[in-house]
Amino acid sequence: MDCVLIGRTIAQAPEGRYFRRALPTAKINDHIGPMPELPEVETVRRGLAPALEGRRIARAIQRRANLRYMLPERFAERLSGRRVERLERRAKYILAHLEGEEVLLVHLGMSGRFTIHSGDTDPKVPGKFHYESPSAGTETHDHIVFDMEDGTRIVYSDHRRFGFMDLIAEARLGENAHLAALGPEPLGNEFSGDVLRERLKGRRAPIKAALLDQRTVAGLGNIYVCEALFRSGISPSREAGRISAPRVEKLARAIRDVLNEAIEAGGSTLRDYAHTDGELGYFQHSFAVYGREGEACSKPGCGGTVKRTVQSGRSTFYCPSCQR
Ligand SMILES: [Zn+2]
Repeated sequence: MDCVLIGRTIAQAPEGRYFRRALPTAKINDHIGPMPELPEVETVRRGLAPALEGRRIARAIQRRANLRYMLPERFAERLSGRRVERLERRAKYILAHLEGEEVLLVHLGMSGRFTIHSGDTDPKVPGKFHYESPSAGTETHDHIVFDMEDGTRIVYSDHRRFGFMDLIAEARLGENAHLAALGPEPLGNEFSGDVLRERLKGRRAPIKAALLDQRTVAGLGNIYVCEALFRSGISPSREAGRISAPRVEKLARAIRDVLNEAIEAGGSTLRDYAHTDGELGYFQHSFAVYGREGEACSKPGCGGTVKRTVQSGRSTFYCPSCQR
């Protein structure tokens, strides 16, 4: 069986081939809880790249007119026959650059996932493909199907339909409403302690809220904000504009580190998967503070206890002893 589910659970056999076991929907949700964050989206991008980059979409199929929003006019028709030149990520968006200077923009929402099925050619019928799972792409929540020229079938399913897709002219990408207001990419060269300090200057909001604001830094969500603040020893309620330069420097480094480590964990989830019988959700890798209310703080010598509070409607986990 050659198929891989990208997004919720993801797997790579030791020989480097992707594969996947189907999960009941409820189980997928149990694993995940909140929205996929930047590291998960990056893992999805990396998983999709070999199947899409440099390859042609022979035929796209759309099984409904909308996801979270209406799909663009003649969406499937406009994708069919197009070659995907490269796959990028910006914050939590996946950008598939297509030949003809258009970009397919994808947001996974809360439950969007991609599955890659590789087909075997039917020797009796040239050009006809068989899939290990004959229903691939036709299940209730399979909304968009990309049949690639090489016989690979890529299925986008999304049972809650908070995800969305759009087609945008490459030249107008910068003015797209979803992308235009985004702050610097935290893993890009344009992000640093100085840049972060500049963006926090004069802000009265608590640092937690300032970091969740996508204009400050792009792609940060609740989990990794909690982790980065914990690692840098900054209280989530500290006024954003009043954090000293060395501490902002430390925070910027912590943001990059927690994201990079999570992306690496996504990679090791792929590698380990083949050795387990169960299903591994991407977010199962352990967090230092997130979800650890009542547990002893893991910082050596701290002795504090992790607390949970609610800020702007979201849970914040922190250690009152070592986060100041
Ligand atoms: Zn502590």
